[in-house]
Amino acid sequence: MAESKHSWREDELSLQEVIKKYPDVSPFVILKTDVQRRGVDFTQRAIDAVDPDRDAVVYRGIYSEKNDRIPNGLILRDGTTILADRVVPSSGFNGGRDPYLIDIADGKAVLTDEGKVIEEVGYWPKPDYFDKVTSSGKPMWQVLVARPQRMDINLYQNCDFWKDIGMGCKFCPIAATYSKTKNIKREHLDYQDVAEAVAEALKQPGRFRMIQLCSGSLLGGKELLDDEIDQYITMLKLLEKNFSHKKVMTQLISTAHNERQLRRLHEETILTGYTADIEVLNEEIFNWICPGKAKYIGYQEWKRRLYQAAEIFGPGAVNTGIVSGVELVKPNGFRSEEEALEKGLAEAEELARHGVGVAQTVYRVAEGSYFQKQKAASLDYLTAFAKGLDTLQRRYRQEAYFDDYRTCGNHPNTDLARI
Ligand code: SF4
Repeated sequence: MAESKHSWREDELSLQEVIKKYPDVSPFVILKTDVQRRGVDFTQRAIDAVDPDRDAVVYRGIYSEKNDRIPNGLILRDGTTILADRVVPSSGFNGGRDPYLIDIADGKAVLTDEGKVIEEVGYWPKPDYFDKVTSSGKPMWQVLVARPQRMDINLYQNCDFWKDIGMGCKFCPIAATYSKTKNIKREHLDYQDVAEAVAEALKQPGRFRMIQLCSGSLLGGKELLDDEIDQYITMLKLLEKNFSHKKVMTQLISTAHNERQLRRLHEETILTGYTADIEVLNEEIFNWICPGKAKYIGYQEWKRRLYQAAEIFGPGAVNTGIVSGVELVKPNGFRSEEEALEKGLAEAEELARHGVGVAQTVYRVAEGSYFQKQKAASLDYLTAFAKGLDTLQRRYRQEAYFDDYRTCGNHPNTDLARI
C-alpha cells in the first residue's frame, strides 16, 4: 500500500481562505504575511531576469549577508513591501512550509504557489549610492543598508547576549551571520564610513524619508548599556551635520535603556523615534525565548523603560517589536493560537494604554538560530493578530509614522494603518 503523504496545507487555512475570512484586511497585506512566514525561492529564469543595475541585490546587515543576483526585497502592486529571505525547500530550514516560487510569466516576475500565479511582483530599486566608495575605500553598500525609502545603519554587527553562553534570543541568527562573515567584515562599522555613505545617499532626490539605526546589544560601559548609548550618540552627532533642523526623521531600534540614557538620546541628538523590541508579549515565554534580555533587564523592567521612553519622546514616537508567532514554538510556547491571541492582545493593550505601540514582525524560522528546526505560525493566526493590533492602534489613536508601509514596510499591522 502506498504511504500517504500528509501536507502542512491540510492542517491550516489557505491564502484564499484567509483572505475570505478577513474581508476588512487588505489581501496584499495577507499575501505579504504569508510570503514572510514561508519565504521565497526563485526559478533560474527569474534570477536571469534580475537586473543588478536596476534592482538592489547586494546586502550586508546584521541578519544576513549576500552578494549575488537575488533581490533584497519585493514590492506588490499597491506599494506593500516584503522582506522575505530566500528559502531553498530542501534546506530543512523552511519552518515546516514550502516557500513561494518567483517565476516569469508574460515577461513579468510573478509570485507562484503550486504552479499557479498568485500575484505580480517587483523588486526594491537599487539606490544611487550603492556603487560609490567611501574615502577609506569601502563600498558604500557594505556600510549602509537601503530599503525602498529608508536607510538602515547596523553599527554593531554582533550581539553581546550571544557572548554570554546560552543568552542569545532563540529565534535570532545574528551570531551565526556574524561568525560566517567575520573574515570579511568588522564587528563595528567605522562611523566615518557610515557618515559618508549617508551624506551620499541623501543626494538622491525623493528616495529616502528616514534613517534607522539598529544593531545587536552592546552591554558594556560604566552602567549597563552606556557603551551602546555612546555609540548611537556618536553616530547621530555625525549625521546631524547633514541637516539644519533640531530633530530629523530618525528611528533607533535598540536594547531598552534606563531613564538617564533615554534623556541623553532625546536631549543630545536629532533622534525622533525610539523602539526597544520586547519580542514576546508574555513574561514566562519571554524568559525562555530571550534569556539574555530577561537576565540583564527583565520583562517588567523592559516595559517600564518603554513607558518612560513614551513620556520622554512623546505621542506616536515609541513602540516595541514582536516576533509574531514565535510565542507558539514548542515545547514552552502557548499551547493554542486562541490563547496566544487573547493573551498577546491583552498585553498589547496595556502597552497602548501607556503610549507604546507594537510593530508585528512575522516569525520566519531562520537558519543558524537556536529555533532553526521549528515551525512558523499559521496565516490565519498572524492575520488575526495584525487585525487585533490595528484595532488597538485605532482605539488608542496611535500613529505609525516610523513603521508605516512606505517608511519601514516590514509589519503587517502598521501596513494596515494607511487604509
Ligand atoms: S537582542 Fe536578541 S534579537 Fe536582538 S540581536 Fe541580540 S540576540 Fe538577536
